[in-house]
Amino acid sequence: MANVEVRRDVEGKRMSEEEFMDLVERWAAKIGAQFTAIQFKPLKKAWGQCAPEKGVITFSTDLLEQPEDWINAVIVHELLHLTFPNHGKLFNLAWQNYLKNGLD
Ligand SMILES: [Zn+2]
Repeated sequence: MANVEVRRDVEGKRMSEEEFMDLVERWAAKIGAQFTAIQFKPLKKAWGQCAPEKGVITFSTDLLEQPEDWINAVIVHELLHLTFPNHGKLFNLAWQNYLKNGLD
């Protein structure tokens, strides 16, 4: 997912990797997405990357400092790439719907 200017959390809060992974697990259960590995790397040009053929998702370490809404948006985006390896109409509909309805 390409980098977009996002306002930093005013409090400068940083989500822990455990909290982040908890969100990933909950979204994966909701979406029915199956990944083989999640990794963090200092990505320069993206918030996240997905290799659907391997089931591996990489998140930018900078993402942990972003507002939770944006973190959720990126997690859902990358998990959906396991099913839709493009940014087509179905992908966008699914992305918007999951974010609109949230985790509950
Ligand atoms: Zn994407």
